[in-house]
Amino acid sequence: MQHARSPQRQEYKKKLYPVPSPPPLRFPSCAPCACRRSIAVLSDRYSILSVISQALRGHKGWKPAWRDAAPAPSYDVVIVGGGGHGLATAYYLASRYGIRNVAVLEKGWIGGGNVGRNTTIIRSNYGLPGNIPFYELSMKLWESLEQDINYNAMVSQRGVLNLIHSDGQRDAYARRGNAMRLHGVDAELLDREAVRAMYPFLNFDHARFPIKGGLLHRRGGTVRHDAVAWGYARAADRLGVDIIQNCEVTGLKIEHGRILGVDTKRGFIGAKTVALSVAGSSSKVAAMAGMRLPIESHVLQAFVSEGLKPVIPGVITFGAGHFYISQSDKGGLVFGGDIDGYNSYAQRGNLPTIEDVCEGGVALMPAIGRARLLRHWAGLMDMSMDGSPIIDRTPVEGLYLNAGWCYGGFKAVPAAGLCLAHLVATGAPHEVATAYRLDRFATGHVIDEKGMGAQPNLH
Ligand SMILES: Cc1cc2nc3c(=O)[nH]c(=O)nc-3n(C[C@H](O)[C@H](O)[C@H](O)COP(=O)(O)OP(=O)(O)OC[C@H]3O[C@@H](n4cnc5c(N)ncnc54)[C@H](O)[C@@H]3O)c2cc1C
Repeated sequence: MQHARSPQRQEYKKKLYPVPSPPPLRFPSCAPCACRRSIAVLSDRYSILSVISQALRGHKGWKPAWRDAAPAPSYDVVIVGGGGHGLATAYYLASRYGIRNVAVLEKGWIGGGNVGRNTTIIRSNYGLPGNIPFYELSMKLWESLEQDINYNAMVSQRGVLNLIHSDGQRDAYARRGNAMRLHGVDAELLDREAVRAMYPFLNFDHARFPIKGGLLHRRGGTVRHDAVAWGYARAADRLGVDIIQNCEVTGLKIEHGRILGVDTKRGFIGAKTVALSVAGSSSKVAAMAGMRLPIESHVLQAFVSEGLKPVIPGVITFGAGHFYISQSDKGGLVFGGDIDGYNSYAQRGNLPTIEDVCEGGVALMPAIGRARLLRHWAGLMDMSMDGSPIIDRTPVEGLYLNAGWCYGGFKAVPAAGLCLAHLVATGAPHEVATAYRLDRFATGHVIDEKGMGAQPNLH
């Protein structure tokens, strides 16, 4: 495998997609009244000092993480959908672009959608130029997220290992690893013995699809999913964003080709700009603007076992079936597989897919057959026709679309939020998201990445 350590390459990597820095925290200078303000700022932040001071007060002084805002008559920007993407967009609009007259409208509760239902895997091990810089920016934002939003999201870079089961697959992974390293992303091609040293309990000896090696992406890992929603919600709220739960958008008001606002179950809310970030409901909400999207909604299920002692230190993906697994900090084995094979808006799945996932798990690590399943659940995937997302304007002036994340949109939360905020604030796509155009399905510039999330047309 090529390696990318030359000085020119390092210089190129530094220039490549720099991560925008968070706004500096300003503490007032030490005048008598400013000191009080200083203390107020400090006690509002989560820190060891605030934990100690709350402990001394019997934990009675904690404030709600965000206000329960009532809708105002109008906003500069209304974001539809209070999932990871919508909340991150609001936070970056306020923190990086100074746009604070913003509302996030959520039909249910914060964290109730896919952002709180996924298997928590983050990674930037993509292979196509349209994708790698975007997901690498997201990974860099994950790496500084907790300091940026002052929230413990349990970002854990425990490594993602994609297993190899054939010579052809090794070639494909070597190629992907090379593409990653050329873009400054870490990748290591492991042989069978290196994989065995990491995970001796995998089925090496009697498998129908023997393990021949793996592609290891050490900076990949997991993040506690609902903490991401809560952390962005709190950080956006602190900057003045209104987070409005139980506020379903039922219509989009458009006149002379321009968006004027949204009809909701809590009345009409005017807006100069509306951004749609509704994941599995994208087709339904876009239809309110008369748009038909190149997206189908499918169900994806996830599973967690009873708590076990630490056994799986990282994330493993099976290369001969659709199965991926990690272990939560509570000890549960968290795993998943393929989408259910037909379109649906139900947030529950079906037995044939459960059987398929369990077969994959037992083929890969037979010991899992002895673990008891504790819970399983499902979320609604917005499956685009090339497996890649859309962050773009729409034909309606002032209406923006963020959709098509398939089952890979959790890892994308920070970059998708930043790129959508950039587009809304500047009118131009962010440099790492220029390929995510809505019209690519008409022009043929699809981003057809294998390993990105299954395409519905392959099922
Ligand atoms: C089981 C499962 C496992 C997954 N595993 C991974 C993984 O390991 N790694 C990864 O990267 N990705 C994973 N994903 C995908 C990832 O979770 C999604 O792509 C991503 O969360 C979607 O973005 P979001 O967080 O904004 O979505 P959501 O949290 O679904 O947010 C959309 C919100 O819009 C709201 N909404 C819908 N309609 C309206 C309306 N009319 N008015 C107001 N609000 C509305 C919904 O209530 C919802 O809260 C997984 C998904 C599932 C279901």
